[in-house]
Amino acid sequence: MAQNTRRRPLIAGNWKMNGLQADGLDRVRRVAALRAATEVPCDLLVCPPATLLAAISEALAGSPIATGGQDCAPQTDGAYTGDIAARMLKDAGARYVILGHSERRHGHGESDAQIRAKSEAALAAGLMAIICVGETLAERDGGQTLAVLSTQVKASVPPNATAVNTVIAYEPVWAIGTGRNAAPPQIAEAHAHIRATLRQGLGAEADRMRILYGGSVKPANARETLALADVDGALVGGASLDVDAFWAIAQACPKL
Ligand code: PEP
Repeated sequence: MAQNTRRRPLIAGNWKMNGLQADGLDRVRRVAALRAATEVPCDLLVCPPATLLAAISEALAGSPIATGGQDCAPQTDGAYTGDIAARMLKDAGARYVILGHSERRHGHGESDAQIRAKSEAALAAGLMAIICVGETLAERDGGQTLAVLSTQVKASVPPNATAVNTVIAYEPVWAIGTGRNAAPPQIAEAHAHIRATLRQGLGAEADRMRILYGGSVKPANARETLALADVDGALVGGASLDVDAFWAIAQACPKL
């Protein structure tokens, strides 16, 4: 990290396609009650399914916990059945949007160019983009991890990205939802490489940008993961559905 650079960690919960009104609102109210009673050394974000975004944003009004979408369209409006524009997420109360999650890259065949177009739409709408990158197991086993990360970062992150409008999430595909957290040296190497790649395009702004780790983060591995250099928080899937686990991960952030 550059001298004197301080990045406040972000703990972001990706609920994926989980949650109805009753359990989703209950979960978020419980997190808000914990946050109202106790400080944590990090920013908090929940990304519920789009159907819950407005209700959850309303339930969190006045709380420091932000909400975000899980994807957005590159277009602003029009004949795109089933898609959701970034400004619609904003209108529903979102401050962030996750883009290029591996379940979008691999499950829906999204390319770096599409992710960049979505990221540009998010920034234009005034949302913070959380741009996900990460290698598959075959790419890691083939020794291609760093090359894959370079390509994804260069091709997915818009040139007008700043630390104020963009967060990067390193999510090795083989660690997502598998219970298999990447080993600390693997995480440290990937994060340092992502930051060095960002520096090539964005200069010193790269040292202010948060890079989250995502992939089976749980209370048991959070403290060690979050203490690594260049790890500025976590994108949490499965464990974000469990209020106690999500809260324990937030509390595991190192104090600045
Ligand atoms: C994710 O969905 O971004 C994720 C990291 O999932 P999990 O924590 O369940 O591996």
